[in-house]
Amino acid sequence: MRAHARVPRCATLRRVSIQVFGMQVSRGVAIGRAVLVASSRVDVAHYYVGADDVDGEIERLRHARDAVARELQTLKDDMPADAPPELDAMIDVHLMLLHDETLSGATKGWIRDRHYNAEWALSAQLEVLARQFDEMEDVYLRERKADVEQVVERLLRELARAAAEGEAAGVAPPASAAAGRGPAAPDPAAAEDPLVLVANDIAPADMLQFRRSVFRGFVTDVGGRTSHTAIVARSMDIPAVVGAREASRLIRQDDWVVIDGDAGIVIVDPSPIVLEEYRFRQRQSELERARLDRLRHTPAVTLDGQAIELLANIELPGDAGPALDAGAMGVGLFRSEFLFMNRDGDLPSEDEQFEAYRDAVVAMRGLPVTIRTVDIGADKPLDRLTPQELRHEHALNPALGLRAIRWSLSEPAMFRQQLRAMLRAAAFGPVRILVPMVAHLSEVRAVHEALARARQQLADSGRPHGTVEVGAMIEVPAAALMIERFLRRFDFVSVGTNDLIQYTLAIDRADDAVAHLYDPWHPAVLGLLRSTIEAARAAGKPVSVCGEMAGDPAFTELLLAMGLRSFSMHPGCVAAVKQRVLRADCRHLAALLPEVLGADEPAAAVAGKMAGAPAVR
Ligand code: PEP
Ligand code: MG
Repeated sequence: MRAHARVPRCATLRRVSIQVFGMQVSRGVAIGRAVLVASSRVDVAHYYVGADDVDGEIERLRHARDAVARELQTLKDDMPADAPPELDAMIDVHLMLLHDETLSGATKGWIRDRHYNAEWALSAQLEVLARQFDEMEDVYLRERKADVEQVVERLLRELARAAAEGEAAGVAPPASAAAGRGPAAPDPAAAEDPLVLVANDIAPADMLQFRRSVFRGFVTDVGGRTSHTAIVARSMDIPAVVGAREASRLIRQDDWVVIDGDAGIVIVDPSPIVLEEYRFRQRQSELERARLDRLRHTPAVTLDGQAIELLANIELPGDAGPALDAGAMGVGLFRSEFLFMNRDGDLPSEDEQFEAYRDAVVAMRGLPVTIRTVDIGADKPLDRLTPQELRHEHALNPALGLRAIRWSLSEPAMFRQQLRAMLRAAAFGPVRILVPMVAHLSEVRAVHEALARARQQLADSGRPHGTVEVGAMIEVPAAALMIERFLRRFDFVSVGTNDLIQYTLAIDRADDAVAHLYDPWHPAVLGLLRSTIEAARAAGKPVSVCGEMAGDPAFTELLLAMGLRSFSMHPGCVAAVKQRVLRADCRHLAALLPEVLGADEPAAAVAGKMAGAPAVR
């Protein structure tokens, strides 16, 4: 669905509730006050300060303001005689803004009333002011927005500098800040109203920061259903809408917002009747969740006795324990690239990676852990910019560029380091290595050579390591079309439908402008999926699907009909898919497959014939 906003164009004229349409990426209903975050400030710390820390936080802000005032005054005093007079005037404006009540007084208000930390309070107030400037008729005044931004930028830098200095001197941050740059757990005294996050865009790495967050849901202007931002959101299991183009412009700081993650709608300033309806739906979906929760430890076996493997997709080792609790029988996809993000340019060392992989393996208590080699690139850039990445940054089509295994093979030392870390973790339990985006036999050979060398290096240095199975992700049509050759060279395959759809249909999965054409039901996609599953089964090699289709119950019967017996998904999806598995009869579904695949509307055919079809006993 193409996102659009329904009236009115100017937020200040708004007196009635409005609806903004986007794409649903994570189900459920969230109701809360909007926290608008500018993309560039997503990595600003967001946490609550306790009631006892409010005065200290206001003091911190005052110190920062005084320091910035001194800095500006020094700039002014040291100004060379021949400097343009505009520069002097600009510093005066900045000094005036720094002490202006609409910035400093209102920011204190966010701290005092909402218990936001100083950085959060500043960025919240900046959003409010930026919007007021945007709506000014006078061009000169409108352009003063940049001055406010610069002043806030200086204040944020000063706060960060003072915090780093305090940390170096051993001054502990407030307890609520200790959880990291991202938002920490709410202080119950402070968190009176639930909050939802609204942003133009959030990078996957920043999204990760929000996982321990205070937010009950989120909305972004851009992004597609299977963009990595959306995937991380889904893994958080909170309602989310992406591609809601006008959202961050129409929604104002602190507005009440309903996020309908089932329909992909955001309602701003809902009327009491609408709010009551959504509160009712919220309670219903909580009840439904509780009901599904009871299936967590029920074996996933179909009516005709087929055991179905339901695995988890995880981003960090800490996700493994919760995946086990959700009923996953192993990890089908550990997206290791998230270990490489938010590191200010450093790559994780071999030991650090080893510890992360080992922690996941140990947490899964003997169940298999499938670790994917780093899938950097496209919408998951690294912070560090090597010359290659610099070139990549400017690549016209990054999704078709130096991504995933292509990047790994271009950095052989980094790749062997990762492989060694994985092999060492394999000494603690079953590990499977998964190679993303492989398309060429030359890449297959290079992967096996790198692995043999990594193994040899560990043996030479006497470091303990285990055996691993090696699998290929089938996510490029070329790989699906030559699946037999891949099957001869790998122990297993896993279909990455998110990319398989992107590359088969030539649709950038992160681009909301073409999101309406991103179609998992496209006959070409279904044909490749079916032939891959059939070929793997014929070769006697395990095959799984680890793209978003695997966790979407709308596809469960179809994938079972194609012969799929292993599904890997966000842990939060396991129970809903299991419910479909328990009601399915694979023989019956397989018999319906030709008719469904031959239909012009496979989605309608599945809904009408397969889902809830009477079982043959
Ligand atoms: C996929 O492409 O389906 C997949 C699972 O990998 P990612 O979404 O991380 O690209
Ligand atoms: Mg992929």
